[in-house]
Amino acid sequence: MPHDCSFLADRLDDGQVSLGDDDRDSHAGDWGTPEADRVRPDAVCWPTSTLDVSAVLAAANDRGVPVTPYAAGTGIEGNALPARSGVSMDLTRMDRVLDVRPDDFQVDVEPGVLGGTLNDAVAEHDLFLPPLPQSADISTVGGMIATDASGAKTVKYGEVHDWVLALEAVLADGTVIETGSRAKKTSSGYNLDDLLVGSEGTLAVVTRATFELARQPAQVRGGHAVFESLDDAATAIAATMQAGVDVATIELLDSVSTKIANAYSGTDLPDAPTVFVEFHANHGVDTEIEACREIFEEHGVERFAMAAGAEMDELWAARRDLANALLAYDPPRRPAKPGDVTVPISQYPDLVRHAKELGAEHDLDVPCFGHAGDGNVHYNVLVNPDDPEEREAGRAISDAVVERAIEMGGTSTGEHGVGRGKREYMIAEHGEGAVETMGAIKRALDPNGILNPGKIFPEPVDGKLSRADPPD
Ligand SMILES: Cc1cc2nc3c(=O)[nH]c(=O)nc-3n(C[C@H](O)[C@H](O)[C@H](O)COP(=O)(O)OP(=O)(O)OC[C@H]3O[C@@H](n4cnc5c(N)ncnc54)[C@H](O)[C@@H]3O)c2cc1C
Repeated sequence: MPHDCSFLADRLDDGQVSLGDDDRDSHAGDWGTPEADRVRPDAVCWPTSTLDVSAVLAAANDRGVPVTPYAAGTGIEGNALPARSGVSMDLTRMDRVLDVRPDDFQVDVEPGVLGGTLNDAVAEHDLFLPPLPQSADISTVGGMIATDASGAKTVKYGEVHDWVLALEAVLADGTVIETGSRAKKTSSGYNLDDLLVGSEGTLAVVTRATFELARQPAQVRGGHAVFESLDDAATAIAATMQAGVDVATIELLDSVSTKIANAYSGTDLPDAPTVFVEFHANHGVDTEIEACREIFEEHGVERFAMAAGAEMDELWAARRDLANALLAYDPPRRPAKPGDVTVPISQYPDLVRHAKELGAEHDLDVPCFGHAGDGNVHYNVLVNPDDPEEREAGRAISDAVVERAIEMGGTSTGEHGVGRGKREYMIAEHGEGAVETMGAIKRALDPNGILNPGKIFPEPVDGKLSRADPPD
């Protein structure tokens, strides 16, 4: 049954609400939502202020109409898909950089600002926001906060939650709250910033954020290294991290991934496991580079080359485009179920080995790449979606990799969030008690279950967990 969304027209201006098919279609899923899983919202709205957000939520809450925050729609796990229809609340018109305070290394922004735009706005002060994802130029800070995103520089600088100082957010009943402070540290009360960061729009809608920023390092050097075997490359990365070498980025591409990158980006990467590195320092960057080189040599590196700016830019662009390159590589083969498992660094080589062995057993390509220094593996089993056997094998491999990562003390998702795609692993990863506790928080903040329903929590199994995720 469609929800009656006529209340939107009374609360927002003309041009801020649409019931049209095109707008509903464009908000029916995100980058990672397969065609068959798309769900059209009943209406789309575009608030331009905190007051707009508050008015819409209060009215939707009174009527029990679901509201799913939607930003740039680059999520991989169906995070912004309106699973129970209702209203898709598009935050992209709240896109102002409000205040830059260079003396405090801080910026205030609205949630619809793109990551790249934020960095452009603070660059003149020699500042930057370090944990931005590879998708920074096409995704918003609201989406990054909601998924606790991270990126290539996270290995040195941390995740988005490490850089959020304060938030303004609107609860399901329309109440506006402020969390955190502008102080660098605080021990005051529950840490509501950290509760909202990563909550994927299920607890509140973020309407303003204050981020801490970092000073651009005086020395930035990038390069890449080529190994004969994937095992050597993965072990060298783990050893580099264990030795405490100060890398700002350390990314692995297996040989399938280098092939895919070359085909899409026209690069000339070798048909061999390749590691991209970047080093940031104010003094003595060469000491760190030499320490890394020595460790790589102990693990049989074949080539270790630092590159000039433009050459490195080309390599980073190819790395950034890998997600799209995968889709274009070998049609009709598509990733069965993209993974972003993350494990303690000592387990990283074993996890990569495991993923590749499973692929070999089923004679399927499983390109592995990602933010290796964090123990993060992006893996994609490439299958023909029209072949049920391959589809089934792809799913089984994806599940087995997640299960192994959780057994190793890791997580089913290092950065993309749970959305719809990773809900089935929540109990295995956190245990029933912790998931029930998350459900209790959800019920306390959103008793009518209107905010982004159908996400994070597993499908109801025994009636207990269903309380966290009330059905329509
Ligand atoms: C090519 C590519 C590369 C990527 N690389 C990375 C990467 O390196 N690291 C990484 O972490 N991710 C990566 N991603 C995934 C994606 O870009 C991130 O999850 C990003 O943070 C999503 O931002 P968005 O603006 O697109 O949000 P959307 O996809 O529109 O929404 C994401 C989630 O945020 C919620 N949301 C959005 N705005 C708000 C708000 N104001 N208040 C409350 N909830 C809100 C939505 O409901 C949804 O649950 C990549 C994606 C692509 C396509």
